[in-house]
Order: sequence, then structure tokens, then C-alpha cells
Amino acid sequence: MYIRSLISGLLILATGSASIAASEVNVYSYRQSILIKPMFDAFTEQTGIKVNTVFAKKGLVERLKNEGRNSPADLIFTVDIGPLETVLQENLTQSVESSVLSANIPAEFRDPDGHWFGLTSRARLIVASKDRVDTNQIGSYEDLASPAMQGKVCTRSGKHAYMVALIASVISHTDEATAKDWLSGVKQNLARRPQGNDRAQVKAIHSGECDVAVINSYYLGKMLSDEEQSAWANAVNIIFPNQKDRGTHMNIAGMALTAAAPNKENAIKLMEFLTSDQAQRMYAELNHEYPVNPAVEWSELVNSWGTFKPDNLPLVEIAKHRATASKMVDEIGYEF
Ligand code: FE
Repeated sequence: MYIRSLISGLLILATGSASIAASEVNVYSYRQSILIKPMFDAFTEQTGIKVNTVFAKKGLVERLKNEGRNSPADLIFTVDIGPLETVLQENLTQSVESSVLSANIPAEFRDPDGHWFGLTSRARLIVASKDRVDTNQIGSYEDLASPAMQGKVCTRSGKHAYMVALIASVISHTDEATAKDWLSGVKQNLARRPQGNDRAQVKAIHSGECDVAVINSYYLGKMLSDEEQSAWANAVNIIFPNQKDRGTHMNIAGMALTAAAPNKENAIKLMEFLTSDQAQRMYAELNHEYPVNPAVEWSELVNSWGTFKPDNLPLVEIAKHRATASKMVDEIGYEF
């Protein structure tokens, strides 16, 4: 009798500890806390599952690699297709099969084998000085290399993931030789050595250093809500490139389930929640990104920029050309 009650006591203990483990999910994130914490809180409120998060600007992939099978991380969150493909290639992810995720996320914004999923998308825009550029002169990424743009173009480093993805998308739609000619043409037109982040390019247009630049769409929203930077954003017209052909280059912020994931079920629940109407709506409002879920409305500001034709080529195709794109930047001495 005593032994039986001891055993049932142990069983209760075991079940008890299992239910503690079952009520959490661990996230490694390169994305700032302010951009995802409200969605995590909403998830916890609805499900009772606690979300533990480690934020860092660097080193999370290395940490995941070093921890191996013992990693506490269930999910990794990052921006740009580059890092998402890196975690996949390092065998740090596992495939997720979820009808909810496939229904909520268009095919171009997820890995065909379910190793990563987009959460939000962003357009790589051309911005041009309202005072000095006739918007009829520039309608495509190709136009950045046209003689009319001589000495007028500014970009950030060609080695930055956002630029590598753009160059890779040009390679995907043309071929290596054509893309190389194009990038050399853009280099010829540069007003200064590639430098600074996306916002710094808009600042340089405002100060008169350059006339056109390429930037991710959400930075316009961020700049408009900043006292100093709103003047920069107001100095430029927005151009959605390549509306007459392939459409505007898009990239994502996304997530992947780790290979070790100790709380796999909860992790998939969180992934699904983050693509739902409620969470996608929060994303849209918080960072002026485009929801990946096409059923979800854009923020009022993003809406004011107008509708456009996005490049629907799957990101996995673009990612295949990242290495070539990065090498091309060196070969033509883009960083002079
Ligand atoms: Fe960014």
C-alpha cells in the first residue's frame, strides 16, 4: 500500500514536471525585443505558454551550434533570407509540417521543406530627391546603372545582407554576366563610397550628397516617427522598382524551428500564432512591415505608399545566388 502510494506520488511528480516543461518555449532572437515582445505576450495570454527570449545582435547561430543537441532554444528569429539559409545549411533547423503555416504564408516566403518561415516582408525601395530627381527618370533597379544617374547614387555596403539579396535577385532574373554589368554600372554612378545603414542613405539625399538610394520600406516609417529623421524621409519620393516587369524585390524577417527544440509542440503553436490575423496585425502596426499573411491589412502609413507589384520569385531561389552576389561585390571592387 505504502509502495503503491509512493509510486503514484512519483507519477504525480513526473507529470507535474512534464507540465512545467510543456508550458514554455525558448526563443533566440536577433530581432529587437520591442518588435516581438508584444506578440509573445499576447501568445502567453491566450495559451498560458511562457515565452523565454534571448536577444542578441550577434553570435546566436554560433551559440546554437556550440550547444548542439543540448540547446534550450526551440526557435530562432532573424532578419533576411541570408541568416535563415545559414542556419538551415548548418543543420541547426528541423522541418515543420503545418497546414496553418502553409495557409498563412505564401510559398515565396517559406522554405519548400519547412525549415524556415517568413513573418513579415519588406520591399527594397528606390528613394529619390523630391527637389532634384524627376521620377520619370528612374523606375527600376536597372535604371540605377543608367548614364542619367551618373554621380547621383548612394547605397550601403554591397556586402550587407540587404544588398547581397538584391544583387542575388538580379542574378536570379537575368544571368551572372548581366548582373555584373549592372552592378558595375551602379558603381560607376555612386556619389560616394558605399557606407552607412539604410537611413544614412536618406540622410545623404536630404543633405544633397546624393540624389537616389535603395532602402528597406519600413525605415521610412521609422524615420517619419523620429523628430530629427522625419525631415530626411520627407525629402524623398518613394519608387516601387520594376513595376513594368518582375516587380519590387522583397525580403523577410523570419523564424526557424531548431534541430534540438525541447519544446517542439509549443514552438509550432507559437509559430502558427505569429502568422495569425491578430499577431500579423500587430507586426504591421509596430514596424511598418508588410504582413506575410495576405489576408491581413497593412498599417495606415504603409497603405499610404500605395499598392505595388512585388517580385514573387521564391526567396529560396534568390538565396541560391547569394554567394555569387557577394563574390561579385569583391570582383568589381564595389567597395572602392
Ligand atoms: Fe533593417
